[in-house]
Amino acid sequence: CGIIGYTGARADRNVIEVLSNGLSRLEYRGYDSAGIAVADPSVSVYKREGELAALEETLPEETDDALAGIGHTRWSTHGPPSDENAHPHTDCEKKVAVVHNGIIENYQELRDELEAKGHEFDSETDTEVIPHLIEAALEQGADPGSAFRQAIERLEGSYAVAAVFRGREEVYATRYQSPLVLGVDDGGTMLASDVPAFLEYTDEVIYLEDEQFATIRPTGIEVRDERGALVDVSVETVDWDP
Ligand code: GLU
Repeated sequence: CGIIGYTGARADRNVIEVLSNGLSRLEYRGYDSAGIAVADPSVSVYKREGELAALEETLPEETDDALAGIGHTRWSTHGPPSDENAHPHTDCEKKVAVVHNGIIENYQELRDELEAKGHEFDSETDTEVIPHLIEAALEQGADPGSAFRQAIERLEGSYAVAAVFRGREEVYATRYQSPLVLGVDDGGTMLASDVPAFLEYTDEVIYLEDEQFATIRPTGIEVRDERGALVDVSVETVDWDP
C-alpha cells in the first residue's frame, strides 16, 4: 500500500530513521503490516504484522554501514496479514529484497515455473515471485539493474516496485499503474508512493511515469524508459506543508 526508499551517505540521516519516519507518514493510507530492508552490506529484513509500533520494536537503533534501504506498509490482496506475508520479500539466498504495491495477475504461473526450478517460497503473496525472478536472472549472470528489469518484464498487473541488493548502495524502482515519486535530497535520494513520505527531508521531486525505471544512488538519479534509453527528467518543487 505504501513504499519508501532511501539511499544516502549523510552523517545526519540514518537509513532506518528515514525509512521508519516515511512509513509513519504513509500510515494514513491504511495497512495491516509493515517492514523494512537495509543493504548493510548483507540484506537485513525486519517485518511485522500489525501496527508500526510492532515493527519499531524489532528495528536496530543504528545501521552505520547501511547506505540504502526500502520500507513498506502492506494492505494485503494475496495471502492474509502475517509476519511472513509482510514485505519486504527476498530470494532464497537473500541477495535482494523487494517491496511492492499493487497486484501481480500472473503470479501463480510464475510461481509454478520458479518452484519447478527449485525456488522455495516463504509467503503466500503475489509479490514474492519478484525477488525469485531477480535471483534467477542474477544466476544467469545479469547485473542487478538488468536482473531487476528482466524480472519486471515478466509481470502482468499493476505495480510500484523497489529493490535493494546485497552489498549495493543503489535502490532500483519502477511502476505501472501505481504511483511512485522520487525525491532529490542533498547527499541522498528518496523514493515513495506518495510525496508526504519524504516531505520533511526534501520538496524537490520527480514523478516517475508508467514503465520508467529509476536507479537512485547517494549521488543522484538515473531514469530510463521501457526500451532502456536515458530519460531527461525534470525536477519539480512541490509547495505542500509537511
Ligand atoms: N499484492 C501485494 C500483497 O498482497 C501488495 C499489496 C499492497 O499493495 O500493499 O502483498
